[in-house]
Amino acid sequence: MKHEKVTSVTHGKCTLVGAGPGDPELLTIKALKAIQRATVLFVDDLVSSEIVAFAAPAARIVYVGKRGGCKSTPQEFIEKLMLMAVREGENVVRLKGGDPFIFGRGGEEVEHLQAAGVEVEVINGITAGLAAVTSLGVPLTHRQHAHGVVFITGHAKPGSLGPDWQALAATAHSARLTLVIYMGVSGAGHIQHELLTGLPARTPVAVIQNASLPTQRHIGTTLGRLADAINEAGMASPAIIVVGDVMAGVALAAAHPEAVRAA
Ligand code: SAH
Repeated sequence: MKHEKVTSVTHGKCTLVGAGPGDPELLTIKALKAIQRATVLFVDDLVSSEIVAFAAPAARIVYVGKRGGCKSTPQEFIEKLMLMAVREGENVVRLKGGDPFIFGRGGEEVEHLQAAGVEVEVINGITAGLAAVTSLGVPLTHRQHAHGVVFITGHAKPGSLGPDWQALAATAHSARLTLVIYMGVSGAGHIQHELLTGLPARTPVAVIQNASLPTQRHIGTTLGRLADAINEAGMASPAIIVVGDVMAGVALAAAHPEAVRAA
């Protein structure tokens, strides 16, 4: 009998999984199952080790964030590695902090993988902004204080202008929106300055660091004191800045009551 050589190309699949803000109990069941099924996991910064520990013992774990190695792995390289693993027939999970599609470049990863013909599934996670505010017992929207919420980045792509804070401030004021600012701590002085063109200095603000983790801490302040309050308290990344009237209770109960009075 003549044997024909069959070359079969097994294509694996790739799932972008939201790991949530840090607390492993905030994982979705769907995310947990995907992590347990994965044969290779590419793990981002800000994904807690308890969550990585849910992976199968035989799974290969590749840390691609700053905390895993020395410097953060370039995005194109991560995408190349993921593509190689998929082509080798692996069940690839890309584990990202929070929700994969709220900042963190999940959208770009999906575009590149799909362009290479790879089937991609995305599993939501609880985004840090939501968890941070909820952990203080504050609703992001409230019929009396806010009609809606804006998730916005405080860190512009190098070479680009970034958000139009002045336009945002005017809209947030007139439309009564809560602003949830990601990656804003290092640029807080600039953000504060621009937002003050359209929002009063007394606007309540909270800054929440390490939301949902045992190391979580927060400050309450006002827009007029934002950068000073961050410096005084030594707040650092990862942190969420929340601007808006829903934060009034947190701002008043702040550890720095003189900050509220001064504004
Ligand atoms: N995809 C993520 C966001 C990635 S951008 C999500 O949906 O949450 C990274 C930024 O998210 C950080 O700079 C910080 O602003 C915020 N962040 C992530 N985890 C956080 C946490 N546990 N507490 C506070 N902020 C956090």
